[in-house]
Amino acid sequence: RQAAFQSDIGALLEQVGTGKESLSFMKRRMRRLAAQWASAARRLDDRLRSQWREQKRILVHVGFLTEESGDVFSPKVLKGGPLGEMVQWADILTALHILGHNLKISVSLKELQGFLGVPPGRGSCPLTGPLPFDLIYTDYHGLQQMRQHMGLSLRKHKCHIRVIDTFGTEPAYNHEDYATLHGYRTNWGYWNLNCRQYMTMFPHTPDNSFMGFVAEELNDTERLSIQRNKVDSMAVVYGKEASMWKGKERFLAILHRYMDIHGTVYYETQRPPEVPAFVKNHGLLPQQELQQLLRKAKLFIGFGFPYEGPAPLEAIANGCIFLQPKFKPSHSSLNHEFFKGKPTSRQVSSQHPYAEQYIGRPHVITVDFNNSQEFESAIRDIMRTKVEPYLPYEYTCEGMLERVHAYIQNQVGFWPGSPPSPFVLLPNSSALAWASNISTPPSWPPLSALRLLASLEGQSCIDACQSAGLICEPAFYRFVNIKEAFSGLEVQCEGVEAELNHIFPAFSVESSECGLQKDPLLFSCAGANNKYHRLCPCRDYRKGQVALCRDCL
Ligand code: UDP
Repeated sequence: RQAAFQSDIGALLEQVGTGKESLSFMKRRMRRLAAQWASAARRLDDRLRSQWREQKRILVHVGFLTEESGDVFSPKVLKGGPLGEMVQWADILTALHILGHNLKISVSLKELQGFLGVPPGRGSCPLTGPLPFDLIYTDYHGLQQMRQHMGLSLRKHKCHIRVIDTFGTEPAYNHEDYATLHGYRTNWGYWNLNCRQYMTMFPHTPDNSFMGFVAEELNDTERLSIQRNKVDSMAVVYGKEASMWKGKERFLAILHRYMDIHGTVYYETQRPPEVPAFVKNHGLLPQQELQQLLRKAKLFIGFGFPYEGPAPLEAIANGCIFLQPKFKPSHSSLNHEFFKGKPTSRQVSSQHPYAEQYIGRPHVITVDFNNSQEFESAIRDIMRTKVEPYLPYEYTCEGMLERVHAYIQNQVGFWPGSPPSPFVLLPNSSALAWASNISTPPSWPPLSALRLLASLEGQSCIDACQSAGLICEPAFYRFVNIKEAFSGLEVQCEGVEAELNHIFPAFSVESSECGLQKDPLLFSCAGANNKYHRLCPCRDYRKGQVALCRDCL
């Protein structure tokens, strides 16, 4: 069946249900953004007119909201607890609904069992018969619950699963045996999925797919009124929980010399002691009122926590400059409590690396806060700088619909080990292209986008591709994991071995050792090792939509 865009979200709101503050938050957001989604749907519909879009049966099981997982978030919705996940789930549900798929939503184990056809009260009774869904979006909690209740059949149906995973999962952590043997075992990873089945909040490592969320878009009238009403001396502090303000008195005192400081910190009866008296604290605001505050403010300032949330994008979209601390050294699972046990080695270079690397000046200023001079001069600069509201296309409704559409229609069959087919090597100046008489299923992204590079010693493929203005594409590893790739790059190999090693395919100049990857599950853009140059399959990407290559749609 062909999927048809459906802009009316009435049926969706009904499906989301009631009884939890988190669900009410999500529904308020859906209502507030409904018009914006509808007009984005019209634009995308116009662009995709000629394309057949298959209607999928989709189950969304939000594991972290189930009572069985403890649901620690719902009671904190009105108390300054994390809201980013709810923002994202609300937007995922809306995108899937608007794209016209056949959607079922579950936020409890009972509903999950009902939808999967597992008889309730039968514990780990395996699902018999075919899976009644083409796709299941869930999270790590949900995955655990599905394992308990689907038994062995989970393995059979694994390729239909997508895991919403805020910070991402790298291949070395995802591969159960490898993780166990090499010290990458965590509480979360080791599911042996194809890493592109993990979908992140920001484009972290391209090993995962980038799901994202949306921020509010402005019309011309709103832009004009923002321009008129900006107050150059008004700052809003990022942090709705008092603990995020702890120990920041020094920065606040400096900032206060230049600007009026506003906060949206949750409190019960009294001002939290962490928030100085000179701060105008509004208490936790409804999203809509926060937007209004951001429209007036010139500066949105982060003090290092929370990491990588939606709020900085909202601030920048409303014409604020985001000032944030640079982390030296970077934070990671090796040195910071928060990231410890997360299935990634990613080096987090600032509070919001996406804002730092993908947006940057003049909208984002990242400085060492411990250098008071640098901090102070950044504040003075900000007061003088005029900026326009800015929202990267990938965080608009149209951008998210486009991306989710592309994934749903093209990310099919996460078979782990498709064999490479016979290739003809076409040397092509600095890059190589592979022409193939493909007998395996066609590649997505299309093979024409492939550019093969060798990384520097110790460099990951994420960085190698990036420094060539490209992005690492894990779907292409299977095409470059062949010995001809070494000769194509004029690498001298003493011999070529295939190994289980998340650095491979790679070569060492010193030992003339060349290695291919034995297990496709270990293909990794993120991996790096000081002894090796890696073979990196890169591709181009669209400006403002890094998930898609030029010919991906
Ligand atoms: N937010 C809000 N009221 C406030 C402060 C924040 O509704 O007073 C919302 C904000 O609009 C954003 C969401 O909280 O969409 C999550 O923000 P944050 O970046 O703080 O990430 P979190 O740590 O909550 O996931």
